[in-house]
Amino acid sequence: MKILVTNDDGVHAEGLWALARALRPLGEVTVVAPAQEQSAASHAITMAHPLRLRQGQQEGWTYWAVQGTPADCVLLAIKRIIPGGPDLVASGINRGANLGEDMIYSGTVAAAREAAIQGIPALAISNVSSTSTDFGPGAAIAVRLAQQILQHGLPPQTLLNVNVPDCPADALRGVRVTRQGRRVYRSTYVERRDPRGGLYYWLGAERPEDENVPGTDVAAVQAGYISVTPIHLDMTAHEALDTVAGWVES
Ligand code: MN
Repeated sequence: MKILVTNDDGVHAEGLWALARALRPLGEVTVVAPAQEQSAASHAITMAHPLRLRQGQQEGWTYWAVQGTPADCVLLAIKRIIPGGPDLVASGINRGANLGEDMIYSGTVAAAREAAIQGIPALAISNVSSTSTDFGPGAAIAVRLAQQILQHGLPPQTLLNVNVPDCPADALRGVRVTRQGRRVYRSTYVERRDPRGGLYYWLGAERPEDENVPGTDVAAVQAGYISVTPIHLDMTAHEALDTVAGWVES
């Protein structure tokens, strides 16, 4: 069993190694991760310049640090680094939630999505708290889901997005399978001047407003449940096909 572990927080992130250690008993774990933090890199892949990588050692493991994005790491690992490609890709454990629209920006989710595009079962795992250093619950659910995925497989073009709520491990209420919810970011750009008088803008970091709709990822983690959302690669708005056809094709 060959397992690829990657992330978007960078190769030295604690959550990455917690995930790698947890999955080690299930098979041969290979770590290929971005050399620098790539949070919010989404699904970018590098085309205009070569991908350079560096081998390193940590906890008796050889890892590969790639000067690229999370999706680059997964593609490179599948095509070149892991002979025959991995049987499973696990991305995380991310510092911070990947709920609702976060999934569109997330490099953590994109890494798992690239695996799904390549036909390899994958899951993305995130801690809702961006400051928590407790990766135990995330590691435990990753192991459980990895075992189930290896046993049952996943439906075609489907990956799993997992979020662990911001509460002590003994306060967790269980696991819920959810649909994608909504979180509304109202952050705006802060305007400042640099020491040489040049104007710059920096995106603010206000907390998003989560819409607490039952059945969603957002609601599950608010209620203290680990959220598992199956994500599909098909982005078609199926319910809009007839409406749009009504005025485009007439
Ligand atoms: Mn991240």
